[in-house]
Amino acid sequence: MLEIRNLHAWYGESHVLHGVTMDVPEGRVVSLLGRNGAGKTTTMRAIMGLMGRTEGEINFGGANLLTLRPHRIARKGIALCPEDRAIFPSLSVKENLLLPPVIAKGGMSVEQIYQLFPNIRERGSSRGTQLSGGEQQMLAIARILRTGARVLLFDEPTEGLAPVIVQQIARTIADIKSRGYTILLVEQNAHFVEGLADIHYLIENGAIVDRLEPVEFARQIGRVAQLLGV
Ligand code: ATP
Repeated sequence: MLEIRNLHAWYGESHVLHGVTMDVPEGRVVSLLGRNGAGKTTTMRAIMGLMGRTEGEINFGGANLLTLRPHRIARKGIALCPEDRAIFPSLSVKENLLLPPVIAKGGMSVEQIYQLFPNIRERGSSRGTQLSGGEQQMLAIARILRTGARVLLFDEPTEGLAPVIVQQIARTIADIKSRGYTILLVEQNAHFVEGLADIHYLIENGAIVDRLEPVEFARQIGRVAQLLGV
């Protein structure tokens, strides 16, 4: 369980998280939904130890992650799939896949990854930049599955992608979930997370304003989509 308690974060003088409290239970998918600038990426950056000034607690595996350096957090088996996907353009698809170090046992083998993502095998010798947006997103997901991380943070995986690709990504995340991974899914697309997440949190101006179970989320999806401005 990843337990976030009263998390505050700053960029310089700018106080952007104002006491975020949420739980990401083991083996579950949790969505974090909010408009641009609400604080979703900052919450993920704080989990990964990438924010300068923070207060509060992020408890995981017997430690408060806010006291640990990023490499120690990664070694606890937490990995971030960032919004910009961070594909290295001058490297081939296979080199991109093999780049992050394996940090824990139990990560997928390259062969398992190719079975889950046949396109990545086919495009192995292409440059990262030759991939479509959807293929880049798949590569970014595949890459973290190889590292052995069991807690995966996805930052807006559907951003800028066509509906048919969004459906593929939903199927991929459902498959990953069925393998027992713990997933925090940051999104602005309420319909994308509807069938995927076990718990939904809404964030506004750096604070959680609602927590919805799936049935209630489905009932209120119109209101949620309106709140997200989509
Ligand atoms: P988006 O969908 O735009 O990524 P978000 O919900 O992820 O939205 P954050 O990126 O966490 O939002 O931003 C939270 C607040 O922090 C916003 O007001 C944003 O302008 C501000 N912010 C983000 N990055 C920085 C930075 N590097 N320096 C200063 N302020 C920042």
